[in-house]
Amino acid sequence: MLCPGVYPPDPTLGITDPQMLSSPKLVRRSRNYEHRPCPQCGKSCPRDRIFIRTLHDLGDALAGRPRDLQITYSQHHCTRCGRYFTTDMSDLAAPKARYTHRVVATAVRIVVEDGLPYQTASWHLWRDHRVFVPYATIQNWVEARGKKGGPSHRGRLPRLGPRRLLRVHRR
Ligand SMILES: [Zn+2]
Repeated sequence: MLCPGVYPPDPTLGITDPQMLSSPKLVRRSRNYEHRPCPQCGKSCPRDRIFIRTLHDLGDALAGRPRDLQITYSQHHCTRCGRYFTTDMSDLAAPKARYTHRVVATAVRIVVEDGLPYQTASWHLWRDHRVFVPYATIQNWVEARGKKGGPSHRGRLPRLGPRRLLRVHRR
C-alpha cells in the first residue's frame, strides 16, 4: 500500500520571484577588534576601519528560512610594513566570496558525489538547505576544482572523499 504524505509539498513551489520568498534570518557575527597582529611582522596594529560583510549560509530547513551571516570586521594598519589587513575570516568563507564554505562544500558534494546536474543541484540546495545559488555559480565552484567537464558526465566523475574536500576548503 502506498504511503502518501510523507513529504509535504514545498510551499515555495512555483514561486519565481525571489521577493516572495521568506526573508533570511540574520545571524550577526563579530570579527571586530581594537588590535590585531600584523600577518607579516607580528606587530600589534590598531583598528583603522570597520566593515560589514554578508555571507549566505545553509538555511534553516525546518523554519523554511534562508540564513545570512552578517559579519562586522575590522581593518588594521601596520605602520611598520605600511600595509592594511583585515581580520581573518578564512574559516568561514574564501576572500570576496558571497557564500560560506559550508554552502560551497554542500553544493560541490551534491554535484560531484551525488551526480546531480547543476540545475537540479541548485533546486536541491534551495529545497533542502534554503540557500539560493544560481546553477552557474555551482558550475563555477565545481569547475574551479577541476573535477567536472560538463553537466552530463556523471559516470566519469571522480569521487571526492570528505578528507579531500576538507583539505580543499581549509586553504
Ligand atoms: Zn607589519
